[in-house]
Amino acid sequence: MNVPLLDTTRGQESLFDELSAVCDRVIRSGRYILGPEVEGLEQELSAYVGAQHGIGVSSGSDALLIALNAFDVGPGDEVVCPTFTFFATAAAISRLGAKPVFCDCDPDTLNARASDIEACLTPATKVILPVHMFGRCLDFAPIAELASAHALPVVEDAAQAVGTKGAAGSAGSLGSAACFSFYPTKNLAAFGDGGFVTTNDAEVDDKVRVLRALGMRQRYYHEVVGWNFRLDALQAALLRVKLRRLDEANATRRDNAARYGELFGAHDLDAVGLPSEDPGCTWHQYVVRIRDGRRDALREHLAAQGIGTEIYYPVPLHMQECFADLGYREGAFPHSEQASREVLALPIFPGLREEEIAAVVDAIAGFLA
Ligand SMILES: *Cc1c(COP(=O)(O)O)cnc(C)c1O
Repeated sequence: MNVPLLDTTRGQESLFDELSAVCDRVIRSGRYILGPEVEGLEQELSAYVGAQHGIGVSSGSDALLIALNAFDVGPGDEVVCPTFTFFATAAAISRLGAKPVFCDCDPDTLNARASDIEACLTPATKVILPVHMFGRCLDFAPIAELASAHALPVVEDAAQAVGTKGAAGSAGSLGSAACFSFYPTKNLAAFGDGGFVTTNDAEVDDKVRVLRALGMRQRYYHEVVGWNFRLDALQAALLRVKLRRLDEANATRRDNAARYGELFGAHDLDAVGLPSEDPGCTWHQYVVRIRDGRRDALREHLAAQGIGTEIYYPVPLHMQECFADLGYREGAFPHSEQASREVLALPIFPGLREEEIAAVVDAIAGFLA
């Protein structure tokens, strides 16, 4: 049985007519960038997230750049972020001329903890940029307390966490600002690139809006040097359709995660570490740990059987070639380094069938037994 890691169309067939009608509407409207569709998405998605303001932008990476830019991050500044995350988190810091200062993660949740972040604070720290990894909410209250004690803004990287809830509230409503991605593999997926910034601060909202459109408030009068980070009307219109089904899709991911838990539980494999249960998690990825050193061999075995998996992420950012000049050494962040050696993401997408989940678990059990 072939089981893809992700099939972006399966389970969406019932939406195709509605999505096509929306394309038609936008094509005939003559408004292709920003405009009423983007404004509609900004209202609907910020309300969904529980944030007062939302700004549509061109990608999740650009959302990070513009949010950090809104807090005046630049040369001489440090921004604390996890080493175990997608590259874009740290790239935004570097691209603004600031220095990424990496922190380790909790070995259980793979999220940065307040204690991990605190160890990285210096007088040059300008922003704290933690990530809600794989759809699991950060333990935010202690991070907020730490940030407030040092008068630092927190920008949430919520690219993997649309709809995610934690004890303190929804991902994207907790920090000074938050960044989302609509990359086609994300839980709220566009048909191309797209991103979003949320904030409860009217001043940040205003700065991001001005920066998004080349720094113009009034056309051809530039008060700051901004970017072209505008969102297309077509993507916004399509995303509004997808947003109405997001809770349903995330609930299906939750069911799939629970099913993996049951089936793996029945096999009781010593080598497999399961992600801990969390009712607010939206399972952007279902990531197990293969603890017996055979992760890569298992992955090849699964691929030979037609089962798709992925390693998010094989190299923690402090060990990336492009960050060699930051001077980090192997061993600096043991939990993140161990995670990079052990993690394996299994298919979890909403259209996944029960027999496919069973086939994945059986194939893993067959190899490790
Ligand atoms: C996907 C992702 C991004 C970047 O989003 P793009 O839309 O692909 O630019 C940033 N951070 C994290 C954690 C991500 O997973």
